[in-house]
Amino acid sequence: MPINPVFLNGKWLSIDQAMISPLDRGFLFADGCYEVIPIYNQKVFRLSDHLQRLEYSLQSLGIDSGYSNKDWVELFSHLVKQTDDKNYKSYIYLQITRGVESKRDHIVKEAIVPTVFCYAENTATLNDLPEAISVTLQEDIRWHRGDIKAISLLGSVLARRQAMDEGYDDCIFYRDNEIVESSSSNLFIVEGGVVKTPPLSNWLLGGITRLVLLELLEKYRIPFSVEPISVEQLHHASEIWLSSSIKELIPVRQIDGQLISNGEMGEVLKKIWDCWRQYIHSYSENQIESKLT
Ligand code: PMP
Repeated sequence: MPINPVFLNGKWLSIDQAMISPLDRGFLFADGCYEVIPIYNQKVFRLSDHLQRLEYSLQSLGIDSGYSNKDWVELFSHLVKQTDDKNYKSYIYLQITRGVESKRDHIVKEAIVPTVFCYAENTATLNDLPEAISVTLQEDIRWHRGDIKAISLLGSVLARRQAMDEGYDDCIFYRDNEIVESSSSNLFIVEGGVVKTPPLSNWLLGGITRLVLLELLEKYRIPFSVEPISVEQLHHASEIWLSSSIKELIPVRQIDGQLISNGEMGEVLKKIWDCWRQYIHSYSENQIESKLT
């Protein structure tokens, strides 16, 4: 649940009072983008990476938010203060749409001010790896610009719903026999002792968790490779996991009913989870990045 008050267009309001016009282009056309930024121990996680991705999304959509990095930092520090200091993990949700027009029209003919909505939420701390999930493979029905963190998530929502209706927890998308990502996370496999993840492209989101994991693989000299992964490789992988800001790392135990490493937790993932937890703890104790201006 969002912590009150939430931020909407320069005002701090209770969530019940935060209203937008039905002529907002976010509502009419899903014309906007968003960010989800973890907060550990009241420190914003990898702020500059999240701001860089936000800028990339805004630029790709041709939206000028009117906010500088300094403005975002000021806004986020308000939100951080709202979070429970005894709750180790929280996150910031930020959504920006092109704004409200006077008449529904695909083409924007007037100068409009973007709508900016932002709030913080406390979440459960993940001390242990989340329970392993079962997934199904689905052809990627989403659009060609998965690299933009756009609010138009219908492709993911429908795919996830279909997967759940069929008794799975989530789905993994493929295109032309190549693995892309899951409905809301990036994907890693282990093949022959080497950790592999698909390269960034227009098909998938450049996850910040993925980025940190790649840094950790490098730092701890765990063999890894960023390369295309085929459907066959996925089926023969000895370990598979997903990565995202909210869920962090999620082991996959089954694909379309086929067990991955006999449904046991893999050794590489255990090691990476330890490196990840260590990184998160030292980051939340030492980092000063939230002072970015
Ligand atoms: N891919 C998709 C489609 C996502 O929606 C997300 C975020 N939920 C990710 C990957 C992971 O990104 P991040 O690690 O920055 O949360």
